[in-house]
Amino acid sequence: MKKVHNFNAGPCVLPDQAIQKSIEALKDFAGTGMAVIEVSHRSKEWGEVMDECRSLWKELLNIPDTHEVLFLGGGASLQFLYVAMNFLEKKAAYLETGVWAKKALKEAKGIGDAYALASSADKTYSYIPKGYVIPEDIDYFHITTNNTIYGTEIRYDMDCPVPLIADMSSDIMSRPVDVSKYVLIYGGAQKNVGPAGVTFAIVRKDALGKVSRYIPTMLDYRTHVDGASMFNTPPVFSIFVMNETLKWLKGIGGVEAINKINVGKAELLYNEIDRNPLFVGTAAKEDRSIMNVCFVMAPGYEALQDEFMAYAKEHGMVGIKGHRSVGGFRASIYNACPVESVEALVSCMQEFAAKKA
Ligand SMILES: *Cc1c(COP(=O)(O)O)cnc(C)c1O
Repeated sequence: MKKVHNFNAGPCVLPDQAIQKSIEALKDFAGTGMAVIEVSHRSKEWGEVMDECRSLWKELLNIPDTHEVLFLGGGASLQFLYVAMNFLEKKAAYLETGVWAKKALKEAKGIGDAYALASSADKTYSYIPKGYVIPEDIDYFHITTNNTIYGTEIRYDMDCPVPLIADMSSDIMSRPVDVSKYVLIYGGAQKNVGPAGVTFAIVRKDALGKVSRYIPTMLDYRTHVDGASMFNTPPVFSIFVMNETLKWLKGIGGVEAINKINVGKAELLYNEIDRNPLFVGTAAKEDRSIMNVCFVMAPGYEALQDEFMAYAKEHGMVGIKGHRSVGGFRASIYNACPVESVEALVSCMQEFAAKKA
């Protein structure tokens, strides 16, 4: 049982089961008499964890044989550079839906010709741009499926006339994804599939090797495809915890099952925000994220912000402060966030409104 209701945006709450298994593996990993962080990454026992983790990724997301899943270091932030290094030859377009998207674009601009095809910066990224036309003469189109800071999300796999690349840091494994529609899906594990320290990249193998530049060894996806993510020492403990997190996910029914649970949790919270006179949501309704729920005090009640924060804290809520660029509140309700935590937050909002509205 969790001691607090953890709504942190990342690193974030992980399944109790995964934490327990990780504690056990720190005492004695697979009967080796060593901690999982003491064994050789070339050992048979470690190899089995790598294989299991890769298989779970493939099974849970139904990854086709055309693609490979890689476990890397450097976070999603280093993937911004990988993307441009491996795929940008002449020109690339980005959908600018937030600060992360903008940072991804910045790295690409450092490598070649890249631009924002559409942006929602005019309204603090509170919506997903629509009505843009993806040109056919670009190397790739880059999207950020879930905008962690603003609580907007693209919850479908779009048809794209050019190779599609997605940063799915904060909604990977939250719903079924048609991997075949992407040449690359990447993200940091610490939002929805594990602890910080490991980065996933699901890459279409035949899309690699098409650019003319020299790619430094460690930044070349082919190095890690060929090395089965063990070209150099992988972040073993992070991968171990990620593997346990995926085992938990499989145990509760996989991405179809968690998607239903996630939608239910999000509805619970959004319904309260829409009903409660004290609060309003900040994201456009049709683009609301089911992972990060952002809201502020309603007009006229702004002065109660600190008081509500204190009230929620007293009742065990952790991590509901909104990102500094948006203000207000943000509840990150990732896969491992139990429905009981969402219910507890909703109760808090109701009790607070009963006193103040
Ligand atoms: C957190 C986040 C990142 C940055 O991830 P790091 O692993 O810390 O580099 C990038 N994109 C999105 C959508 C994120 O939520």
